[in-house]
Formats: sequence, structure tokens, C-alpha cells
Amino acid sequence: MVEGLIKQAIEKSSADYTEVRIERTVRSQVLFRKDKLENLERSSEFGGIVRCLKDGGWGIAVFNDISELPVKVEEATRFASLVGARTNDEVKLSPVDPVQDEFHAELDQDFRDVPLDEKKTLVEEYNRIILSHDKRIVSSTVRYTDSFREVTFANSEGTYIVQEIPDVTLMLAAVASDSPQNIQQGFESIGTAAGFEAARGHEDDARAAAQRAVDLLTARPVKGGKYTVILDPALAGVFIHEAFGHFCEADFLYKNERLRRIMKLGTRFGNDDLNVIDEGYIPGLRGNVPYDDEGTPRAKTYLIKNGVLTSLLHSRETAARMGAEPTGNARAISYEYEPIVRMTNTYIEAGAHSFEELIAGIDHGVYAVRAFGGQTVFEQFTFSAAYAYEINGGEIGEMLKDVVLTGNVFETLRSIEMIGNDLKMFGGAGGCGKGGQFPLPVTDGAPHIRIADVTIGGK
Ligand SMILES: [Zn+2]
Repeated sequence: MVEGLIKQAIEKSSADYTEVRIERTVRSQVLFRKDKLENLERSSEFGGIVRCLKDGGWGIAVFNDISELPVKVEEATRFASLVGARTNDEVKLSPVDPVQDEFHAELDQDFRDVPLDEKKTLVEEYNRIILSHDKRIVSSTVRYTDSFREVTFANSEGTYIVQEIPDVTLMLAAVASDSPQNIQQGFESIGTAAGFEAARGHEDDARAAAQRAVDLLTARPVKGGKYTVILDPALAGVFIHEAFGHFCEADFLYKNERLRRIMKLGTRFGNDDLNVIDEGYIPGLRGNVPYDDEGTPRAKTYLIKNGVLTSLLHSRETAARMGAEPTGNARAISYEYEPIVRMTNTYIEAGAHSFEELIAGIDHGVYAVRAFGGQTVFEQFTFSAAYAYEINGGEIGEMLKDVVLTGNVFETLRSIEMIGNDLKMFGGAGGCGKGGQFPLPVTDGAPHIRIADVTIGGK
């Protein structure tokens, strides 16, 4: 029935191009903070968006009632022609073959069938493990989320796609303190496109998060300076997504002339071993986009191949502007938003070296593990490692805290000396933010990587 309504509305449209995206979402969340249950909810949502192109301008209209669709198509067309009449920067879309397809999720244990009470019991137990782990644990945050989106996309070129997108996340965080001046955190997080089984069995992760917070109380603050650094796969993954990946998003790039000059295809950014990829579908990962929100099929895009910048990430619009192919990276966080250029599963490809080879020969260095967050201001990045260890004479030494890595992303890419053979992918419990659309499920990853001359500042 919905299919008939959508096709009819698109057929009647007087726009040059019309697309309709409809979403049905079921989600639940359980949140414990300290000893309090702060949130327990299950909700469902239905809505859609029409996007029309007329005379080179976009118009959009959002709705929650499918019967409004024909009116919304007219509305979006009217907006589009108003924009189109005033623009001297006409939007064009790079061609994509029309496709009819369905993409179903297969879950071991469908979380939509699990009672909210059972989810609460599981989260409560993780929270209990953290809070009872040690006298010095003073607080905790344990959050479980799941969502199941059914997204229908159709356009006036004949594309009609139905996709099911599951997502499960779990955040286990502990705060330890032994004096008002010394407060430390430890966390573990999981994010995956799977069923409820993915949230089970993390008792050891809860203990590990709590123990790490306690260990950091007595860890030595790092001494600022320049070090040879090994990044663990999680921190290297955050680095490649945050510091580099966002520059590859073509919508961001074509608005910034200076960056466009830096990000010229063919530019060498690293040694021959460096390969950086954005891949739209890898089974089980939460960054998966079998078809993006313009109906473009997934791709495996080499951003950097053998050290050289080879591609950017595109929507149909940016591909047309820059004379490239669409890469399947037009994504919207929900039906309330238009798609913009986003990453999916972004990673540094595995290299040849074992961890032992990476660490061998480092006299005095730092092994930095996971990210507590960070920020980038153009080419300058600042990331806080969740924790770290000193490296002495080629061996792991004492635990370090307050490790903040800073640098210029392009210099840092050039300073990657060795790439490990142990690629790991991380969904995490958060997501990517851009243009007011947060948190978008993404995955990033890397093997261990060794970088020369990294500036580390103490807190
Ligand atoms: Zn991001």
C-alpha cells in the first residue's frame, strides 16, 4: 500500500527530480548513572522526507502522516523552484543506475522481542559490577541503546529500495577517586549491527573499565615532549576518522579553497604502506550503508592508496560538481534531515608488521591506547588517550595518564613509520557529528601504527 502511494506521488511530481524516504524506527534505551536508573524507554516513530530538484534548486518537506505525501511533494517542488530561480549555482546530480532491492537484517536474537525489563536487568548487573568493584569507584554510567530502522527510498528515476538497519550499543564507564583532586575514568564501549546477543557477556568489560579507572589513580602523568608513539587500533581509528576522514568529505571540501588545494588527488600523504579506506558494507558493522540515502550502492573507496590521495567521498551532487563518481556516502541521521556527505566504515588497512616489530628499537616512547575524545581545528588535532604506557628499551613499561597528542594531520600521516598487521574495527557507543546531525552510526579502525616525533603535552 505504501509502495503504491509513494510511486503515485512521485509520478505526479512536476519537479525535475523527486525522491521520497520513509522511516519506521523502533528503539529502546536503558541508562544507569551511579545507583540510579535515569532512563528506561521504548519508543517508535514514523516519518518521511520529500526532496525535489527544480531549476537547479533543492526543496524539502518533512511529514509524519503518509496521507500528506502528495501535498508534501507539491510543497517541496514549490520551495525548490523558489531556490532554483535565485541561484546561479545550479545543482546537478551525477548519474546512478536505478535499482530495485531489499536488504533485510538477520539477527540472532531480535532485540525488539526482548522485554524492556530484561534489558534493564542486564544493564543493572553491569552497573552493579562497576560500583562494587573497588571502594574508590565513586560513579558509573552504563547505557544500552538499540534501534531498528526500516528505511524505504524511492526516486523519480525508478529506484525503490527497502533496507533494515539494526544498531546496538553499550557503554560501560567507571569513575574512581581517592581525593578531590584525583578523579579518573575508565570505559569500554561496544557498537554493532547485531541482535541483543551483542549486549550480553560483557561482565569482564565492566570489571576492566572499573579496574582501569582505579589503576589510573596511581598512574604517573606523562612528561611532555616529542616521542615515538604507538597508537593502538582504537586510537588510530579515531585519528583516521576525525583528523583525516572529515577532510575527504567533498561537501566540506568544495566550500574551502585552501583545503581543496591541499586535498588534491594525486598528492602524497604517506609512505607506500599507507592505505586508508571507507567501505560501505562489512558484515556486522554499524557504519554499514548497503545503499546510501540517495540510493547509491555501497563502495570500497580508497582515500589513500600506497600513500597517495586517490579519492574523496561523494554524494551525487558533489560528484557532479567535482567530476567524480558518487561513492555511496550521502547519509542522513533520520527522516527529518537531508543527506549530507558522511563516512561509513573508515579504516587504515593492515600492514605487514607484528606488534613486537613495531615496539622493537623504541628506546623511549609512548604506547597510547583509545581516545577519550578530542578535537580538530582544520589540520591541527588534539586527542586525549584514555590511558597509555611508557615504552623503554623496546618494552612496555609503567602506566601513564594525561596523555594528550597534538599535531598537524598531514605531517603526522607522513610520520607514520610502521603499520601493524592486526586491524581491528570499533563501532563505539557514540557516533559521528556533522552539520547538526548526531550521532550517526559509523565504525572506524586500524592496526597498531607507529609514528615518529609526536608532540605529547601533559594535561
Ligand atoms: Zn566524525
